[in-house]
Amino acid sequence: MDMILVKSKSGMRMVDRNGKKGFLELDEPAWAPDENFRACSGCNTSFDLFKRKHHCRRCGGVFCGSCATEKVIPMRLRFIDPVRMCGKCQKIAKWENDYFTNYQKKLKAGEELNVETEKGETGLATVSLGGDGGLLQITFQSGPVVPILMDEVTSFRVTEEGSNGVHMISLDSFGGRNLKLAKTERAETVVFLNGLRKALRMSAKPDHQRSGPSNNDAT
Ligand SMILES: [Zn+2]
Ligand SMILES: [Zn+2]
Repeated sequence: MDMILVKSKSGMRMVDRNGKKGFLELDEPAWAPDENFRACSGCNTSFDLFKRKHHCRRCGGVFCGSCATEKVIPMRLRFIDPVRMCGKCQKIAKWENDYFTNYQKKLKAGEELNVETEKGETGLATVSLGGDGGLLQITFQSGPVVPILMDEVTSFRVTEEGSNGVHMISLDSFGGRNLKLAKTERAETVVFLNGLRKALRMSAKPDHQRSGPSNNDAT
């Protein structure tokens, strides 16, 4: 991708020159119209001359200053500086940023995992995220290569969870591909699988109800 710096109404963003959207990239939200809000969407306090309206840069909602105090860089929206966000969005953005900061590089570098497919292909394979992070590439040491588009994953399950993280992920995708990835105690591999779970959560369509952090997310 050929990236350029552009100025949007909320700040500077690094986007593709040709408008191509990267995997996991989100559009800037439309701002909710000021005139529709007499009170803060967070605490319900009425707006007046002293209680001013602020827009959350991630969801576009209208909040008072105390409900949208903190500024965070929403990395999925490709902002380069921290911008104002509501409490809920701050939490989500930090959870998402953790992926880009601590896991993405590891997933691109790849990891050797035990893989089992619905076709009975089993064995050690190098699993990595290719392209802009949207292609899960499984290369068996015995030869076969199984490419799966992250966008086409229809469901995934964490089938075993150890004390220090995920040990096994099963996923289904369009075309009936069904994979079981790994079972290991190796710390580095556990980090890899934790990162993959996070990427799968983020790439999920909203109707799958598996995007964003949940209460039992330690990572
Ligand atoms: Zn408020
Ligand atoms: Zn928000």
